[in-house]
Amino acid sequence: MNHLAIHNPATGALITTVVADDAATVADKAERARAAQAAWAATPLAARKACIERFAVAVRAELEPLAAIMTRETGKPIKMSRNELNGLMGRIDFFLGAVDATLATETVFADGGMTEQIDHTPLGVVANISAWNYPWFVGGNVFVPALLAGNAVLYKPSEYATLTGLAMARLLHAAGVPADVFITLVGEAEVGAALQAQPIDGLFFTGSHATGERIAKALGPRLVKLQLELGGKDPTYVCDDANPQVAAESLADGAMYNTGQSCCSVERIYVHARIHDAFVTAFLATVNSFKVGDPAVEDTYIGAITRAPQLAVLEDQVADAMAKGANLHCGGHRLPGPGNWFAPTVLTGVNHSMTIMQEESFGPVIGIQKVASDAEAVGLMNDTRYGLTAGVFTPNEARARALLAQVRAGTVYWNCCDRVSPRLPWSGYGDSGVGLTLSTYGIQTFTRPKAWHLRQA
Ligand code: NAD
Repeated sequence: MNHLAIHNPATGALITTVVADDAATVADKAERARAAQAAWAATPLAARKACIERFAVAVRAELEPLAAIMTRETGKPIKMSRNELNGLMGRIDFFLGAVDATLATETVFADGGMTEQIDHTPLGVVANISAWNYPWFVGGNVFVPALLAGNAVLYKPSEYATLTGLAMARLLHAAGVPADVFITLVGEAEVGAALQAQPIDGLFFTGSHATGERIAKALGPRLVKLQLELGGKDPTYVCDDANPQVAAESLADGAMYNTGQSCCSVERIYVHARIHDAFVTAFLATVNSFKVGDPAVEDTYIGAITRAPQLAVLEDQVADAMAKGANLHCGGHRLPGPGNWFAPTVLTGVNHSMTIMQEESFGPVIGIQKVASDAEAVGLMNDTRYGLTAGVFTPNEARARALLAQVRAGTVYWNCCDRVSPRLPWSGYGDSGVGLTLSTYGIQTFTRPKAWHLRQA
């Protein structure tokens, strides 16, 4: 029997060891999901909704212990764990409110004896291979609408968020979702690879570009519906007419929230030369106010780095920037353990020859680059293989709209950042992925439109 050891990234201590899947148990679970899916799809939507409503009530009732589990296994500051669970409630409310209209059969043509209709049938058995940084958000974005739409879900939490994934299954089952309609698979990469090899009708992946590319190559020839929600190198431009203090406070939070481990973290900042120095001063003051420490403590803002190998990535990015002439204002190094810690790091004098302005950092590390014009800023914002989010700070809405219209990103922000709404689609350009979650499109994506041509005899 395989086992998975789960460690606390803030202390390095072993939390527990759980039974993990292997190729045989993955195949067995996939078969069980296949056998159970048709009955779930035939269950009235109102009954499926009732299960998700009960699930939300149960999550709310257990919010504190669930937040504590997430904090222990990921190193996420406890307040942010609570924020995530509360945010999940809003997403569930959106899906419950939107699902009837979104899945309703549409009559698109009716003339004499001829009627044309579209209905939305579930994909069938869908796999969800998920990330650890927001396990409830990125998991819930998939399993809530997928279940509502009548699919069975094979859910593989990240090996860094396994206890959270097991809690999701427990609560969904207690809420009435049949045991074989939502099944958790426990393990590391090889369990994900075994899952993707099963006869599935869709694979919804959230994680790194490297893994997404590997999955796409394996799945391509099988013509299975594939969605990839991958990384980003999200830029924000602060225009010369912006309030540097306001922009700095917002962007420091956008860059460092969740210890910089958000797919939509602000990863690059461009500031017009006219306000650059005032912005940097205010930015540093905000970053210096962030409390680094035990994620279980109430006022901690910067917690642990969840995956130990990321520490070397951050060190390399800082070293590369320094070697090429960047100025280091704070941090730039690991903090003493036990556990995985990296000091909040701010660099200026950066440019696009540096990996810190090209590759996802995924940590509390940010580069700030001075620019001379809007055109230069737009050129730099688009100088990336990614395209998840991008933002502009200026009081001038027309200027912001004109700039953001030119930026290749799935989500754009005016005077805000690091924000996700259940009402809006979440998608990326380029290496940030294919497909989407959230919004009514993020319900339809778990269905197949079926075209009906109906002629009265
Ligand atoms: P990861 O790619 O290391 O792992 C993601 C999942 O894939 C895990 O469950 C892992 O076990 C599994 N996996 C790894 N190798 C596999 C393989 N060969 N075959 C099948 N499955 C495999 O990513 P991560 O470290 O968990 O997440 C961080 C990344 O996720 C960042 O790049 C972040 O930007 C991205 N992310 C994107 C979004 C988004 O909405 N676009 C949201 C959250 C995170």
